[in-house]
Amino acid sequence: MLIKPDGVERRLIGKVIERVEDAGFRIVAMHMEHLTRKKAEELYAPHRGKDFFEGLVEFMISGPVVGLILEKENAIEDLRRLVGKTDPARADVGTIRHDFGMSIRKNVVHASDSPENASREIKIFFEEKWTE
Ligand code: ATP
Ligand code: MG
Repeated sequence: MLIKPDGVERRLIGKVIERVEDAGFRIVAMHMEHLTRKKAEELYAPHRGKDFFEGLVEFMISGPVVGLILEKENAIEDLRRLVGKTDPARADVGTIRHDFGMSIRKNVVHASDSPENASREIKIFFEEKWTE
């Protein structure tokens, strides 16, 4: 999971982490960093070429982000349910994006969408000791 620049800027780190821990996730590693353009482009490489890609990268480098490695049974699906739909206006009440998100771009958090992408993203964001 990544807490995006809007989440950090709006002082939502504590609230996001509280929801994640309350939902049964264990925090395995956590790291704050201001992404370089290269790293932001790598993280969102699957979206390269889409019309929102440039704006997404600009936003992701607009301030620091907090990355978390989380552990839980069924973690990917459960975290994405906790986070809610991409567009906060369409996300269910009680999800992180519904409750804190401002727009489809400023939607507070990123959650990996598959074990393969989680492992790819961890390699980009975290030190080697966290990669299998
Ligand atoms: P994330 O990958 O950040 O967890 P997601 O999986 O719900 O979000 P994706 O389709 O992977 O959604 O899009 C990645 C991110 O790109 C979104 O979280 C959002 O910030 C941005 N994004 C997606 N669609 C749009 C759009 N139409 N306009 C602007 N930004 C968008
Ligand atoms: Mg995604």
